[in-house]
Amino acid sequence: MSRMRSLVLTGALLSATTATAAACGSGNAATGGKPAVMAAFYPLQWISQQVGGPDVSVAGLTKPGTEPHDLELTARQVADIQDSSLVVYIKGVQPAVDEAVAGHASAKAFDAASVVATLPATAEEEAHDEHGHDDVPYDPHIWLDPSRLATVAGKLGERLAEADPAHAAAYRQRAAATATELNKLDEAYRSGLTGCGKKTIVTSHAAFGYLAARYGLEQIAVSGLDPDAEPSPTRLAQVADVAKRQNVTTIFTEELVSPKVAEILAKEVGAQTAVLNPIESAPDGGDYLSAAKQNLEALRKALECPTTEG
Ligand SMILES: [Zn+2]
Repeated sequence: MSRMRSLVLTGALLSATTATAAACGSGNAATGGKPAVMAAFYPLQWISQQVGGPDVSVAGLTKPGTEPHDLELTARQVADIQDSSLVVYIKGVQPAVDEAVAGHASAKAFDAASVVATLPATAEEEAHDEHGHDDVPYDPHIWLDPSRLATVAGKLGERLAEADPAHAAAYRQRAAATATELNKLDEAYRSGLTGCGKKTIVTSHAAFGYLAARYGLEQIAVSGLDPDAEPSPTRLAQVADVAKRQNVTTIFTEELVSPKVAEILAKEVGAQTAVLNPIESAPDGGDYLSAAKQNLEALRKALECPTTEG
C-alpha cells in the first residue's frame, strides 16, 4: 500500500473513531444486538463461528475463492472494522488489515498469532518473499497446526466471554468443544504421519511450516511466504535439485495459485502434482476440518505412509 493511501486511511479511521466509539463492544442494530466479529480470512472466520456460535454475528473480510494475502479493503470494510466488537486477524498475513486494525482500539483486536508460540520465517523464505511480511519476524501461517488452532479457540473463547459476559459460559463451552475437535485432528495427523517413507514436502508457497514442524516433516517452498512471489529460475533449479536428492515423487500445488510452476517442476523432477490446501480461503463444499483431513490424506499418499486401520 502506498504512503499516500495509508495516510488517507489513517485519517478516515481517526474521524470514524469518535463517531462510533459508543457502538463498539456492545453490538449494534445491524447485528440484532449481538457482538459483531470481523474475521480477516477463512480459518479465522471458521474458528470465530465455532466459538461464537449463535451469540455473535461473524463476517469475513476476504471473499471466498480469493487469495487473502493481497487483500485490499474497501472504505466500507474499514468502517466495518471500526464498528466491530472484535476483529480476529493474524498480523503479518494481510498488510491492509494490519493497517486498519492499527487504528482500532487494541481491546477490540484479537491477533491469533499473539496467543501461540510462533516460528521464525526462515532466511530462505524471506529471501524469496518479494511482497512483504517483512513487518513481522515470524511465519504467520499458524492455523495449519491444529494444536495451535486449538489454543487460539480457547483464547478466543476468553476474549468473547470478556466482551459479552452474559454469554460467557456458552463461549467457554464452545471453545472447549472446538479445541477438543482440533486436538483430535492433531492426533490423527500425528499417527497418520508416523513411519512414512518420505518426509520432504515441496509446496507452492511456504504455508506449511507449522504443520511440517509439528509432524516432523521438511517443507521446501517454491515461493516464499507470499503465494504471488514469482520464483526465479535459480530458485526453481535449487528446488528441483533438492527434490531429486530427496526422491520426492509429488510436487504440491494449491487451488488459488497457478499450477504452472509446480507442473514445470514436476516434469523436471519426474514427479506428479497433487493439491495441498493452505486453507487460507473457504474450501469448496467443506470446512476447515474436512480440508485438513483431505490434506492429511494427500500427505500420507505423497509421503508413502503406512496404511492404518480405522
Ligand atoms: Zn500464505
